[in-house]
Amino acid sequence: MKRFKVVIMLLLAGAAVTAGCTKKESGDTSTNGERKYFLEKVRNVMVVQVYADGFKDLTLKEKMLAWHLYRSGIAGRDIYYDQNHKHALQIRNILEAIVENPEGIDEKVYSGILEYTKLFWINNCQYDADKSRKFIPNVSYINFSKAASIAETNGADFGLEEGEDLDEVLSYLRPYIFDRDFEPIKTNKNPEEGKDMLAESAVNFYDGVTLADFEGFEEKNSLNSKVVVENGELRELVYRAGGDGIEPGMYAEELEASARELEEAAEYAEPDQANVLRLLAKYFRTGDLEDFRTYNIAWVQNGTKIDIINGFIEVYNDPRGQKGYYEAMLELVDEENTSMLRAFAENALYFEQKAPWADEYKRAVISAPIANVVYALLGAGAAGPKSPRGINLPNEQAIREEYGSKSVVLGNVVIARHVASATAKMEEFAVSDEMRARAKKFGGLIFDLEVAMHEVVGHASGKKAADLEGDPADYIKEYYSTLEEARAELVALWNFFDPKLVEMGVAPSTEVGKAGYDAYAMGALTNLRKVPEGDQFEEDHDRATHLIVEYVRRNTSGIELKKIDGKTYFEVVDYDEMHRGIGEILSKLMEIKATGDYEGAKAIISEYGIKIDTELRDEILERSLAIGISDFDVVVYPRLTPLYGAEGSIIDIDISYPMDLKTQMLDFKHFFDEEEKDEEVDTQEVVIK
Ligand SMILES: [Zn+2]
Repeated sequence: MKRFKVVIMLLLAGAAVTAGCTKKESGDTSTNGERKYFLEKVRNVMVVQVYADGFKDLTLKEKMLAWHLYRSGIAGRDIYYDQNHKHALQIRNILEAIVENPEGIDEKVYSGILEYTKLFWINNCQYDADKSRKFIPNVSYINFSKAASIAETNGADFGLEEGEDLDEVLSYLRPYIFDRDFEPIKTNKNPEEGKDMLAESAVNFYDGVTLADFEGFEEKNSLNSKVVVENGELRELVYRAGGDGIEPGMYAEELEASARELEEAAEYAEPDQANVLRLLAKYFRTGDLEDFRTYNIAWVQNGTKIDIINGFIEVYNDPRGQKGYYEAMLELVDEENTSMLRAFAENALYFEQKAPWADEYKRAVISAPIANVVYALLGAGAAGPKSPRGINLPNEQAIREEYGSKSVVLGNVVIARHVASATAKMEEFAVSDEMRARAKKFGGLIFDLEVAMHEVVGHASGKKAADLEGDPADYIKEYYSTLEEARAELVALWNFFDPKLVEMGVAPSTEVGKAGYDAYAMGALTNLRKVPEGDQFEEDHDRATHLIVEYVRRNTSGIELKKIDGKTYFEVVDYDEMHRGIGEILSKLMEIKATGDYEGAKAIISEYGIKIDTELRDEILERSLAIGISDFDVVVYPRLTPLYGAEGSIIDIDISYPMDLKTQMLDFKHFFDEEEKDEEVDTQEVVIK
């Protein structure tokens, strides 16, 4: 049975491989021989290509490990769409069916649908990933449904069930796609007075459940389940593949496929990592959070060249801050660029001792976090196409305190963004030539340092009060993510002027701190463009930045708001004062975290982190649009393709660069198609025998 499969795969591989190689030749460089990073703008989102130079130097064994992990991540990607909205997958499949069958569709209508489809891919649903607000197509419903029926005539597969009619399905989905006021917000953590945050959120972690229903209900699988009402009672539907006497749960097929690939990958891994991968596969099957914990403890102690983050991890999208959403991030260590993070990891205790908060919340020992700069090879689910710039895991505080944490900076993502986003921002929003010159002098270093300190020194720092039972997140609930992001960011800002940076060899002089503060204040100003409507930030990192700069502005004389020729600027006029303010709010936030002080978190975040000055926002938005600044950016990841030898076995894994969002998304859509077909043939063969 296995041999049969290999032969077919060999035949299929021929075409794919050629296409991959050609793309690489044409796509790797632009006409002037320089790398192409910027690919396109979709409404206000910039799309960039990332590269992973280290991959080609891997041994075949290492490449095989990466290949199976790549497959494991793609296998689970649909789960995140479904978690974002109960109809997101269905809508995506309809959009893709139209986009793949365009013959005869009016050109303007098609380009409107393609734009909407790209936005859908970018956000993994019909809600903006940052703003949490619904976006709608620039195409009328009538034209949309006409295009769909043309695509249907072209043979498009809309995945309709028997007896389902395309028109009926579309008219049912109409408000979900076209009505901005129908379920307008994905995750609403601050609904109007008297309204329920679960009912007001379109995200698909709950069905028919309100916050009040949780009273007296104990969740067993808070991180990896959906909660629904059945016969008037709450019930957790767990994400798990099942098997071995365990009933399959949500997305069993996808999780089983992902688990199988993890086990295949384990065949090519060193013994410790093989164990880690098998533990993760086990968790995907049982859905038992104790298994996840066991896996995390093994994972955090396993430093490897090729690593994957895979599962239900971050909780920002859940109004309650409990439900993890699916993500897969495949990484390869970038040895050359890792030395900076290593330096911070080695000096973590030094920074801990110099932290501005009370000694009782300082750690005496920090098991040096494994800090790597990595190439992102794949981001699926919540990790793509919008990519994080750095990651620090695991999230469970007890594991962090006992075993430490792993930190990575996604170096290839950071560079692609940095190069692709023009210096236009600095030109428009820097208050003086001195500031511009300083920014130019230090270039990407400010950014690299900030990310490194945030991830390695920031998140890993501090400890909870001795008498606090459990995890601070359990107390601080919906304010925890904002609080923790602000805390990590503040640790980075606090240390920017430390002469240790020069001593460590990561900064040429402490003047880098000035450039860091300039950029941070300016960033808080330009961030206002991310809230084109409404008057509040929703995303935790944005709230954190707003919180910090508002606090410093209102409580110190460090930052001044300047008006020059009718344009507003944030100018850092006193770096010591800003530094003092940062220390002040940092020790407050640390105390709030350490003592699990919900009311304290709520008060300070509500006061400084959420509401914006809409008049100022209008100005910033207008200036941003005028110079073409993106709301955010997303990346196109590398494409991995197996090369087969005459024997039918894989002899190499090729890396190439799609250079196009649509190409990558449709690649992923069809990633397992041929094998499914292959399996069908396979089964028939067995039947005939
Ligand atoms: Zn962070």
